Amino acid sequence: MAATPARRISSGERINISAEPGRLEAELTRRGIRLTRQRRILLRIIDTAPEHLNVELLLRQARRADPRLNRVTVYRTLDMLKRFGLVDELDLLHLRGHQHYYEMRGPRDHIHVACLGCGKVREVESELFDRLKRQIERDCDIQITVARTEIGGYCPNCRSRS
Ligand SMILES: [Zn+2]
Ligand SMILES: [Zn+2]
Repeated sequence: MAATPARRISSGERINISAEPGRLEAELTRRGIRLTRQRRILLRIIDTAPEHLNVELLLRQARRADPRLNRVTVYRTLDMLKRFGLVDELDLLHLRGHQHYYEMRGPRDHIHVACLGCGKVREVESELFDRLKRQIERDCDIQITVARTEIGGYCPNCRSRS
């Protein structure tokens, strides 16, 4: 296994853009799922999204590739990905309203850090976070399968404005 850096911080919104292109499709094919062209379009968008996507954003981008792609297909595809544990569902501290946002899970858990002023979101991976999870597994005798951490605060721009 390649050595993972102890700590990674996104410069834009997401760390894992195109980290593993085609991974979702490969994971589903491995599970024997037959993929339609429309589903492949959605998987590719989720795989490579530079930002977290809600249903509207996903639908808008998918319709550029296929104008007939509808909302039901988006919901069904997301349900399938959730069922297989391949995506995470986030609320991003409700900074952008009450919808949920989706992103491909892994390869390593990250923490979401959001500015409550301008809404900028970044991602952080940390060895400390990985160690904390191991500690919680031991302390609580639980095998962690999902860890969601969202942190809010104010970025330098927003601090200087107030
Ligand atoms: Zn994320
Ligand atoms: Zn800000």
